[in-house]
Amino acid sequence: PRREAYEQLETTSVTDPLTGLYNRLHLDVNLNTLLSSSRHKGLNLSVLLIDVDHFKKINDEYGHLMGDRVLCAIATLLKEAVRECDFVGRWGGEEFLVVCPETDSKEAMTLANRIVESIQSQPLVEDIYATVSIGVAEASNNTNLTAEGVLHLADKNLYMAKSRGRNRAISMLSADSFDNALSNI
Ligand code: GH3
Ligand code: MG
Ligand code: MG
Repeated sequence: PRREAYEQLETTSVTDPLTGLYNRLHLDVNLNTLLSSSRHKGLNLSVLLIDVDHFKKINDEYGHLMGDRVLCAIATLLKEAVRECDFVGRWGGEEFLVVCPETDSKEAMTLANRIVESIQSQPLVEDIYATVSIGVAEASNNTNLTAEGVLHLADKNLYMAKSRGRNRAISMLSADSFDNALSNI
């Protein structure tokens, strides 16, 4: 019936077909909504930008289909690791985003480290292991970061996690230090 078809369409439009996680569009909408409600209530919000390390090698070595299964296994582990109130989705390719309402960067780092540990410590598909790097960023109620700003910051921290050896989470650059770093250029 039409109602079922409509509901299915509604689910499809927010879901990433490979992993069943939220898709990028839905994450974007949610991040904006959650960010304004956090600000309204004077609460912090944090994001985790997660990128699989050397994923190209996994594809090259085991094939694209196995690569897909590794992404699905990571998606499952992420869903298990996050809290009830967090939103987890696929940001694109081998990148995932977790949006954590009412969470400061310290709490977000605890979650991020738990994710890093959980992924590196078990085979994901058959005997295939993988690791992830995570950039953490906080939009605290006094920094006025936009969705774009907090994602940009997470991306900078992700880059730093990569360059420091991967398989780790970093939240070093805060909105304040980032502004300072920019004004020093
Ligand atoms: P780094 O540690 O620097 O992130 O290295 P990397 O190899 O993970 O990064 P790079 O961006 O060079 O490669 C990402 C790879 O992810 C390339 C692309 O083919 C693969 N990829 C993206 N989306 C998918 C997908 O849906 N399925 C599979 N199997 N592979 C994908
Ligand atoms: Mg990537
Ligand atoms: Mg990668």
